[in-house]
Amino acid sequence: MKKEKISIIVPCYNEEKAIPIFYQEISKIAKEMKKCEFEFFFINDGSSDKTLEVLRELSLQDERVHYLSFSRNFGKEAGMYAGLSHVTGDYVAIMDVDMQDPPSMLPEMYRLIQEENFDCVALCSPSHKGYSFVRKVFTNCWYKLIEKISSTPQVPGARDFRLMKRKMVDAIVSMSEYNRYSKGIFSFVGFDTKWIEYEAPERVAGNSKWSFWKLFRYALDGILAFSTTPLVLSAFVGLLFCLIAFITILFIIIKTLIWGDPVSGWPSLVCIIVFVSGIQLFFFGVMGMYLSKLYMEVKGRPIYIIKETDEDFKKS
Ligand code: UDP
Ligand code: MG
Repeated sequence: MKKEKISIIVPCYNEEKAIPIFYQEISKIAKEMKKCEFEFFFINDGSSDKTLEVLRELSLQDERVHYLSFSRNFGKEAGMYAGLSHVTGDYVAIMDVDMQDPPSMLPEMYRLIQEENFDCVALCSPSHKGYSFVRKVFTNCWYKLIEKISSTPQVPGARDFRLMKRKMVDAIVSMSEYNRYSKGIFSFVGFDTKWIEYEAPERVAGNSKWSFWKLFRYALDGILAFSTTPLVLSAFVGLLFCLIAFITILFIIIKTLIWGDPVSGWPSLVCIIVFVSGIQLFFFGVMGMYLSKLYMEVKGRPIYIIKETDEDFKKS
């Protein structure tokens, strides 16, 4: 009987220390899963440490190991997309190399897909263990907000760690947008997903690549990519202000006709002008953000650029 093939996509950015630990662990699991054959696709996302050397070495030792090395850092989203576009497996998993997505969970995920006929088994870590207080508050608020303003549901604490069937992978690859927000894309394509809750462990080596501002921008990207509510909101706020202005004008006309004295009250006038221009600028900014996304999308720039693959390396 032909073995089913599982492809594992592993985005790596400055992970020279974590890769050998991950490889050892995933090889152990691959050995245990006798019914399947494996393919490991590491993505070197423009690392400045010895990540590429480690991957070259691994690809010589083990023919299941492949890698794509980018010409610079394009971000994890680009890494995942490159991986998804290149893998050939019947099932595809995306895993972080820092062991926060434990390979030991893979057999159970495979069993669920096989026996309970899900299209995808995904993991979420809603307790946000290890997050600072501020990050926890922002994260929780973000999930509440996106639930209200987007029709694409987002599971709290969803990680990118998931095992998917080929059909779902093809659907994701067909969404070739430049501004990628994968957690939304996974949800957008639909398919039956089984969610497993777990507590993500600490990373095994190196540091997280996410600063607070990087995360803030990522959260904003999520909103811009999967909701147009801020634009609609700006129209409503505009309408509300027109209404308030109309009522105020009526009030002033009537007041002047009855009592005269048209010039008093200029401080309040200044406040109103400042307030209203603030609101206007704010919504111009919101429009600008959507426009900038549109601008990047229209340019149609490549999502990633490959400088070297394991095949290039083996040939040379
Ligand atoms: N990563 C990447 N490109 C980047 C940043 C991160 O490929 O620009 C990879 C990184 O090597 C790791 C995964 O994405 O395998 C998750 O990154 P990290 O552990 O820093 O994120 P966190 O777990 O803190 O969310
Ligand atoms: Mg991590």
